[in-house]
Amino acid sequence: ERRAALAASTGPGATADGHKVPLLANIGGPADVAAALEAGAEGVGLFRTEFLFLDDSKNAPSEDKQVVAYRQVLEAFPEGRVVVRVLDAGADKPLDFLTPADEPNPALGVRGLRSLLDHPAVLRTQLTALAKAAEGLPVHLEVMAPMVADRADAKAFADACREAGLRAKFGAMVEIPSAALRARSVLQEVEFLSLGTNDLAQYTFAADRQVGAVSRLQDPWQPALLDLVALSAEAARAEGKSCGVCGEAASDPLLACVLTGLGVTSLSMGAASLPYVRAALAKFTLAQCERAAAAARAADSAADARAAAQAVLSGE
Ligand code: PEP
Ligand code: MG
Repeated sequence: ERRAALAASTGPGATADGHKVPLLANIGGPADVAAALEAGAEGVGLFRTEFLFLDDSKNAPSEDKQVVAYRQVLEAFPEGRVVVRVLDAGADKPLDFLTPADEPNPALGVRGLRSLLDHPAVLRTQLTALAKAAEGLPVHLEVMAPMVADRADAKAFADACREAGLRAKFGAMVEIPSAALRARSVLQEVEFLSLGTNDLAQYTFAADRQVGAVSRLQDPWQPALLDLVALSAEAARAEGKSCGVCGEAASDPLLACVLTGLGVTSLSMGAASLPYVRAALAKFTLAQCERAAAAARAADSAADARAAAQAVLSGE
């Protein structure tokens, strides 16, 4: 029965009453494109570009090398949406030439957009390579920055995109609670938000994502995390802009319904999860998702939030 449900699960993501929720794939490079297409991804919601930088931790890859890799991905989704995240170095993804060696708390130090703003040539090369890779293609290119803390960060990134001549939508990842709390202010500078719930949980609960002993606090069902998702989605709606989720949270079928109920406008996940999330969404109306979301937010723990959402959606 499960297999039948999954086989029936093709086409664009939508709730039972037809509310569209584009289902996108998280990829780490051209090698992941085939699986994404096979799983029916409507595009790419998170292209982690770190892979290009891993061969050589002393130097950034050349512009030409980047153009080739980006073009391979962009060509695979004609007319589709591809959201590319600029380099997220530091903390769990250190790079010798960008990451300071002597930070006491690397997760709280110079990482993500911060390291790119300290090394503007690296950001400029990446943005120029993206602009060249997209030339002449009908793809809807969107480019976003990791670790945006506030409006000034968002503006610095948008300025860099404009200076590189990039014709794309510019966005900010919401991975730091300050960006969720002041999402409307961040949205004055960029056209979309994408919630990186892995880091957002880490920074909301002061719980290192690499430390198993605090994994309870990394649970994306934590009601405090759901509150920050809701704040971001409400801000985007008020500004007439989109707010997706590209962290692990999107790959849990029940949580995907709750995120939809919170107002999130797209979900991006590893390709293997796409059929399960598509099948779950198709079972419930938007109003049911909204009721499940409200029940989850009213809970006081991750376990209770999940149980409350489950109870609503199974009609208990
Ligand atoms: C996140 O933090 O949720 C995210 C999508 O980015 P990464 O896991 O690559 O840090
Ligand atoms: Mg992250």
